[in-house]
Amino acid sequence: MNWRNGLVSLGPASLRTLRAALERSLGEQAASVLQETGYASGPEVYQAFASWLQTRANVADPADLDATFLGQMLSEFFEATGWGNVVLEQLGDGAFALDTADWAEAKSDTTALVPSCHFTTGMLAAFMTELAGEIVAVMQVECLTCGGERCRFLIGSAATLQQVFEAINRGESYTDVLAAASAGT
Ligand SMILES: [Zn+2]
Repeated sequence: MNWRNGLVSLGPASLRTLRAALERSLGEQAASVLQETGYASGPEVYQAFASWLQTRANVADPADLDATFLGQMLSEFFEATGWGNVVLEQLGDGAFALDTADWAEAKSDTTALVPSCHFTTGMLAAFMTELAGEIVAVMQVECLTCGGERCRFLIGSAATLQQVFEAINRGESYTDVLAAASAGT
């Protein structure tokens, strides 16, 4: 079976247009609508990843993939599906960062005031939940659409990301919070 079976492809322009139209009609609520839509796609994208991985690396279940190769496999898969290259980095014991300097949802838009890859944030939350086999949360902390050099998505438990959210609101470094959490202090 072709691993693309069941996947629908949309180009960056359609995502950009969808966000602009939703923001015009819904204002700030547009973000949660896009996240919900992305979340619904996560399990389907994960199934495509599982099927692609079988062909690419002869690994039947993504859970069996050697963690050393996870970042590389995710990057190849997201590039093959048109999203872009990613780099996976562990931050302390409790979180990962998924970074990309070339992401479809952020293409050709540098006018946002806050990180705006809402569809991706939802999609990754469902995708990573399937991959981890437990509920995983995702928060975007940097974005190309705000003029940043990359989009950065933090991946961790809801409790860990709540700590990150509070640290950012206090004007503190979230990487310090994650390092302290993993040191047990
Ligand atoms: Zn972004």
